[in-house]
Amino acid sequence: MVGNTSQTIVVAGGSLAGHTVVAELDRRGFTGEVVWVRGPEGEAPYSRPALSKELIQGKVTPEAIRLPAPEEYRIRLRIVDRAVCARLDPDADRVLVTHETEAGKEPSDGEWLPFDALFVCTGMRARLPEGFAGLPGVHCLRTLADAERIRERLADRPRTVVVGAGLVGSEMAASLRSCGLPVELVVQGLLPMEPVFGAELGRFCLDQHHARGVTTRLGATVTALSAEGPTGPVTLTFDDGGETSADLVVLGLGAVTTCGWLEGCGLDLSDGLGCDEALRTARPNIFAAGDVANWRNPVFGRRMRVEHWSNASAQARHAVESWQAGQEGREAPAFADVPYFWSDQYGLKYQMVGHARGHDEVQVERTGTDGHPFVTYLREGRVVAAAGINAPRAVMRMKARIQTEGMTTQGVYTR
Ligand SMILES: Cc1cc2nc3c(=O)[nH]c(=O)nc-3n(C[C@H](O)[C@H](O)[C@H](O)COP(=O)(O)OP(=O)(O)OC[C@H]3O[C@@H](n4cnc5c(N)ncnc54)[C@H](O)[C@@H]3O)c2cc1C
Repeated sequence: MVGNTSQTIVVAGGSLAGHTVVAELDRRGFTGEVVWVRGPEGEAPYSRPALSKELIQGKVTPEAIRLPAPEEYRIRLRIVDRAVCARLDPDADRVLVTHETEAGKEPSDGEWLPFDALFVCTGMRARLPEGFAGLPGVHCLRTLADAERIRERLADRPRTVVVGAGLVGSEMAASLRSCGLPVELVVQGLLPMEPVFGAELGRFCLDQHHARGVTTRLGATVTALSAEGPTGPVTLTFDDGGETSADLVVLGLGAVTTCGWLEGCGLDLSDGLGCDEALRTARPNIFAAGDVANWRNPVFGRRMRVEHWSNASAQARHAVESWQAGQEGREAPAFADVPYFWSDQYGLKYQMVGHARGHDEVQVERTGTDGHPFVTYLREGRVVAAAGINAPRAVMRMKARIQTEGMTTQGVYTR
């Protein structure tokens, strides 16, 4: 049992981080009330990574990717759906919650919720340049609703263009091609996923797309999109004056943190929501977890924000532990973790651990019977990240090694 019956904890955000905070409070036997403001999607939480993989390919239904429902929880839980935390009043420890149906009304029309502790798990939304919004046939992919809108169009066998070759863009190109559709992938740099993986795996990823029949347009930036009527094709114009057209355009232009509602509260919003090593913000009763949280990771001796699935759940559990430590007068522990993510493309599993930004050397080996590249990223001779394809054990060994070395040397980046 933890907390007391008069306490209220507000959890902002209805995806993995928010879901895990609620589950963790339940597991620890929190005796107060939890108010879970789940955001504008109006959906019970689901696995976002499945959207660009199994769901788009029609291998699973939306129901199959739901996270476990909270029906069995013992805590007093109030779920507020289709509602957002619209403003924080940090001096009075309260948040203003507005409902979607109240759009257009003054925020004061919402409900002010007092809290003893607040967990900010509001994540990210897709980056959508102003001129690209609202065009028929042009889609982002962040939510289940986005994925379902794209999926509905696939029955017409559209010619597709995917703009952006990061994790989501590259996966979407692979999934659409795996559905047998013609796909053109627009890559702003010269190799897909290069900013994440570097040149060696970027080249591997490019070869995979080409081998499956994806057309790529390299070194290209889309400067304009225009659509011919509600169902007509979309024309994409590039910075070199070239054009292409498609029936369906998917934008994979990255994501932006959803913390505009915290502006003016005196919290650090320079890149997401700034926290200390224990995931506490400058207000000791306000915590952050997931894509939105920017914290100093002791393994690397630097601040970072991690936009990956396993980080969101691990941080959420940790933020609850930090809160409980405060309740019990213990020192809150640091969240010291090696980031991990995976990506599935054409039946290949890409996995990466660590934090490669700022590396100054790469070592490439060939692994397994397929001879796929396994890349180790170093900085000043120390391993900071590793990535491989269909090599889970080797990748996880490197995760353990980076964790141990980082913790024994006060951060692998501190030298
Ligand atoms: C298509 C896709 C594929 C992905 N694939 C992978 C993968 O293969 N591997 C991997 O590691 N990661 C992957 N990710 C990333 C992973 O999904 C995220 O890291 C994870 O969803 C982060 O969870 P979160 O809860 O922090 O934030 P989010 O998932 O962004 O959720 C934030 C929640 O907050 C709600 N919200 C927003 N504003 C407010 C507000 N003001 N008040 C209340 N609620 C609010 C939102 O509606 C949402 O429910 C993928 C992401 C996408 C979009």
